[in-house]
Amino acid sequence: MTGFRALPSVDQFLLSEAGRGLIDTHGRSALISALRSALAQAREAIRAGAGCDDVAASLPSRVAEMLDAQAASELRPVLNLTGTVLHTNLGRAVLAESAIEAAHMAMAHPLALEFDLEDGGRGQREDHLRELLRELTGAEDATVVNNNAAAVLLALNTLGSGREAIVSRGELIEIGGAFRLPDIMARAGVRLIEVGTTNRTHAHDYAGAIGPDTALVLKVHTSNYRIEGFTAAVPAPALVRITREAGVPLLNDLGSGSLLDLSRFGLRREPTVREAVAEGADLATFSGDKLLGGAQAGFIVGRRDLIAAIDRNPLKRALRLDKIRIAALEATLRLYRDPDRLQQQLPTLRHLARPAVEIAAQAQRLVTEVATLLAPQGFRVTACQCESQAGSGALPVDTLPSAGLRIEGEGGDAPDRLAARLRALPIPIVGRIRDGAVVLDLRCLDDDARLLDALRALDAP
Ligand SMILES: *Cc1c(COP(=O)(O)O)cnc(C)c1O
Repeated sequence: MTGFRALPSVDQFLLSEAGRGLIDTHGRSALISALRSALAQAREAIRAGAGCDDVAASLPSRVAEMLDAQAASELRPVLNLTGTVLHTNLGRAVLAESAIEAAHMAMAHPLALEFDLEDGGRGQREDHLRELLRELTGAEDATVVNNNAAAVLLALNTLGSGREAIVSRGELIEIGGAFRLPDIMARAGVRLIEVGTTNRTHAHDYAGAIGPDTALVLKVHTSNYRIEGFTAAVPAPALVRITREAGVPLLNDLGSGSLLDLSRFGLRREPTVREAVAEGADLATFSGDKLLGGAQAGFIVGRRDLIAAIDRNPLKRALRLDKIRIAALEATLRLYRDPDRLQQQLPTLRHLARPAVEIAAQAQRLVTEVATLLAPQGFRVTACQCESQAGSGALPVDTLPSAGLRIEGEGGDAPDRLAARLRALPIPIVGRIRDGAVVLDLRCLDDDARLLDALRALDAP
């Protein structure tokens, strides 16, 4: 015990100058809990042979460090230089300015969310998006829930609970996380009837499977993979002929579901929501934070009677959106009314459509300065070509030619170590490791200064 005598008691520390300063910054309870663990660690260190006076002397700075670390949010902005524009683990779409302002407004003020300003009666929160979605997709009606997984779950449960849904074996997707279509169908209370084979499904497979217990046919956009070679799938218009004749609805899960033909921005055509509606899908579902570039949400558009049934489903209440995201989504959808300026205003599209030459010029612009910053630490920096991707299961087999900075260090494990140090910066930088180097893809870097500022915080190893 004698060895601990140099350590202060909790009360003594609270009264000390260091203690009073830390109370001012962090508050008394946070300080006491950090202090208790710091004292426990200090006793442990002394038992292990550390000098008692040294341990006691470093106690205030140790406590301050712990409190600072606890006060810093893990949810701080990072620089996404992975080359994956819609990175699910980094929060997918970055919102447009107008959407950020709308979300801010919704956070700061009461708003007429479910309130009819004309007659003072009750409104529906979805009404704010309904008209825009109808205009942008050509659908009769629309509603919105927490994300597209929820949209699929809710649509299946509403249309098919206790009955059968027919799906091609080539479309029984898993999209990462725990979203596997067969599991979602089971949770929706729908019996899955698989038709066709992994690589080939024909119209007669669907037609032959439809029976008295069939509640719907589900078509799923194979958004994160493509089956190539000897394949056959039934296009939506042909499926519509089959489902219409049988009198069962067709639900088309589009995944990303773009609202515009992306080929006008130099990207590959993805099926648009408007096309899916025009082809005759009774319902279509898609995400709000993939190619659409908005907040996390799942949209369901289609037949008025089916949307009304979905809105009446008690599960809907459990899956509904909050006011902040509704405000952000309304502002995002509004941008789509002016496609000519969309690329300028929607970060997702701006990043996806950035020409490789422009990114290469940015790499040239940055390489010397970054090399100078990192040279004292033994890192070699060169400009390089690389390949970006859309991410989140959008445009799955396409890569987008891009450019970046390649940072090489000494020794075999250097890229891992460098990548870890970049992630630990006050503004974390997330890159990719490729061929023994860290590659920072500059596609999503809007502002050169942010990268340079972030790198300046890198100390010598
Ligand atoms: C991404 C995706 C989903 C899930 O959408 P979230 O908005 O991530 O919940 C469902 N179906 C398909 C085909 C998808 O690509």
